[in-house]
Amino acid sequence: MGHEAIGVVEDVGSDVQGIERGQLVVMPFAYSDGSCMFCDEGLQTSCVRGGFFGNGGEPGGAQAEALRIPQADGTLFALEVGEDDALMPSLLALSDVMGTGHHAAVTAIRSGGKVAVIGDGAVGLCGVIAAKRLGAEQIIIMGRHRDRIELARASGATDVVSKRGEEGIERVRELSGGFGVHSVLECVGSAQAMDTALAIVRPGGTIGRVGVPHYGPVDLWTMPFYRNVTVAGGPAPVRAYMAELLRDVMDGRIEPGRVFDRTVDLDGVPDGYRAMNEREALKVLIRP
Ligand SMILES: [Zn+2]
Repeated sequence: MGHEAIGVVEDVGSDVQGIERGQLVVMPFAYSDGSCMFCDEGLQTSCVRGGFFGNGGEPGGAQAEALRIPQADGTLFALEVGEDDALMPSLLALSDVMGTGHHAAVTAIRSGGKVAVIGDGAVGLCGVIAAKRLGAEQIIIMGRHRDRIELARASGATDVVSKRGEEGIERVRELSGGFGVHSVLECVGSAQAMDTALAIVRPGGTIGRVGVPHYGPVDLWTMPFYRNVTVAGGPAPVRAYMAELLRDVMDGRIEPGRVFDRTVDLDGVPDGYRAMNEREALKVLIRP
């Protein structure tokens, strides 16, 4: 299990050119060669020699003492900080949740405007951070957990909608002046979240979806057509965003590591999953 990691390089294969033993590196949840046309275009999750960690088989998952990284030169991002750096949680967040929230934002936000973020999990909260970075004038977080909402507000959310379904949709429309928002960051992946996204986006707006879809077909053929709505997003090429987001982490402008609210060792992983499942913990950091 697991596809987010930061760690020290123990050894490198004979073909590896740019990564050295002893370097502190962060890995994206997908590996990529860094040299094909999709990598050049910043879409490393479609790398022709790429793939994903922790899907069963090779390569393994990152919740482990050690992990073999395929295509190390293209995959890994070397950091210039020590192993005990206080920013470690935020640097780890670059491996997935911060880059994924950012992907939802860059695919949905054209120029500032009104933004709604569906989901107050770690990705949704990072989506709030990303929307603020990209100059959103209004950021409405849709979520129901009080401590997460507080973190969303601290990260730049201007409004909170805790109702779901029709009531939630109505409230977002009210808050955004009656016609919905320019951009929706869909960070859940449920049918209800997608229905909500389609209902709160204004004509000409864009939905950036990064929640892995856990739903069957949705009607994208009538309403989105007549309202010129764009549905964008997909697996985030977080490798493409690391350099840019790293600068803001190092300068203290963003602090995505705040999503980690519990730390366990490897033996504590099952309890970590339980705690997240029961909404006792937002996101668990593992120190093997
Ligand atoms: Zn590639």
